[in-house]
Amino acid sequence: MPEGHTIHRLATRHRELFAGHPVAVSSPQGRFASGAALLDGRLLRDTEAYGKHLLHHYEGDRTLHVHLGLYGKFTEGEPPLPDPVGQVRMRMLGRTHWLDLRGPTACEVLEPPAVEALRGRLGADPLRDDADPARAYPRIKSSTKPLFALLLDQSIVAGCGLIYANEVLFRAGLSPLTPGTAVSRDLWTALWDDLRALMKEGVARGRIDTVHTQHTPEAMSRAPRVDRHGGEVYVYRRTAQPCLVCGTPIAIGPLAGRNLYWCPTCQC
Ligand SMILES: [Zn+2]
Repeated sequence: MPEGHTIHRLATRHRELFAGHPVAVSSPQGRFASGAALLDGRLLRDTEAYGKHLLHHYEGDRTLHVHLGLYGKFTEGEPPLPDPVGQVRMRMLGRTHWLDLRGPTACEVLEPPAVEALRGRLGADPLRDDADPARAYPRIKSSTKPLFALLLDQSIVAGCGLIYANEVLFRAGLSPLTPGTAVSRDLWTALWDDLRALMKEGVARGRIDTVHTQHTPEAMSRAPRVDRHGGEVYVYRRTAQPCLVCGTPIAIGPLAGRNLYWCPTCQC
């Protein structure tokens, strides 16, 4: 599933392509036909990302809400419009570009109260300048759940996905089983700052890199990581490979229904 940095990149891209002008909106597949009719021909005022949720704000207080989920994907191009290929839930056509959306978990038009409700159920998004990490801390401090699960809880930290949750715990040298109750305010601040820096870099690069300078392929004279998720990381999907810091094989195990990766030596 795309992590928050991907959604923030999409929000920026869609703003560049479509904001400030009327947009033709349709649903070639038909499943979003009534929603598209509410937006069609309206001016797109702005876009924003909140965690893994993408919002397109149209004039007249109508907001398109998209959550890509596991399979959702946008494609774009310049006119002429191609014939729809596959199940195109939503198609947008602006002055210079078209955009197709396939396979999202959510694609719906929201009125302002529903937008507020959505914001209200999301936690602090490290990529948003208005995010307040102090708001998340009481939820963490009062929970006996493992920190790994708390980082993935979108009502606590919005936008953090599996890769960032695994990597930020490694970088902090923390056991993923550390309960929220054991996290001091200073530790939380440090985790948040690291997560924010990593995610900002993810937005800039369009991929997730989490290794420090001394652990890059160049610095270690090693081959770059080959993985369809790309990026140089310490533990994510590196099962049984040697830890880049200590050489211990990276471990994998299920936790909170997700794949947890960790170094048993560096994170104990
Ligand atoms: Zn290690």
